[in-house]
Amino acid sequence: MLILNMIYNFHTHSDFSDGKNSIIEIVQYAATKGVNIVGFSDHSPVPFESDWNMPQNQINEYLKTINQCAADFPQLTLFSGIEADFIPGFQDFSSFSDFDYIIGSVHYALTDNFPEGFDSSPKGMKDLIDKYYQNDIKKFITYYYNSICQMCSECEFDIVGHLDLVKKFNTVAPMFDETEKWYYNLIMETLTIIKEKNLIIEINTGGISRNLMKEPYPSFKYLKEANMLNIPVTISSDAHTAENLIAHRGTGLKAAAEAGYKAEYIPGIKKFQPIT
Ligand SMILES: [Zn+2]
Ligand SMILES: [Zn+2]
Repeated sequence: MLILNMIYNFHTHSDFSDGKNSIIEIVQYAATKGVNIVGFSDHSPVPFESDWNMPQNQINEYLKTINQCAADFPQLTLFSGIEADFIPGFQDFSSFSDFDYIIGSVHYALTDNFPEGFDSSPKGMKDLIDKYYQNDIKKFITYYYNSICQMCSECEFDIVGHLDLVKKFNTVAPMFDETEKWYYNLIMETLTIIKEKNLIIEINTGGISRNLMKEPYPSFKYLKEANMLNIPVTISSDAHTAENLIAHRGTGLKAAAEAGYKAEYIPGIKKFQPIT
């Protein structure tokens, strides 16, 4: 398949998890906007109550709907991916091996009872750190990067989702300084494992679409470090609406080029496309 000049996105949420639009609406949007490839990556089922993960009993319907849309829209190439939630002690990824690709992400923090999502709002994140991490942001962030490292070491997957998600509210409600040595060390340790395991990282523009930040995940400083380590990147919108399907892709490409990247990895096709 010729991939040059193709328009695509591989991090896409539908209403099977917490996206606003149905798969059909997203595919219709892609068809009218000249998008060539869509990879769906709804949030994986988790073994406890969640209002934003796909229920286990919906997986077959999810796959069936994507296949049906692929048949109905032959001009598009569709992939069935999943954004798998890694939670220490609760989840492994072995049940997701049939998906075309897996994005591995950490959105949950450990609490007394069952895991809680930490990135719903600045207040929610602050309250959780106060309550379960003794108001110690360093302790919480160490938990986060240790979980990413554990996921990389123990799970089979393709792409590390939004590497530095913990900075999500740092522009609108500053919580820590990303340039401090302890933080730098945590990220570098994480990037080293990512490299060892031959994983891909995302340049994820979802935080820009949500008006939370001006630059993608990961921060430019760390994107440059990733490039120095020859860790491949893929650019994604983390779309939760059809209209954000390819939002801020130009910003992602610019960040990649400025960080020194010459090529972008295309997950479903498992090839590289030059960044010009
Ligand atoms: Zn995510
Ligand atoms: Zn996502």
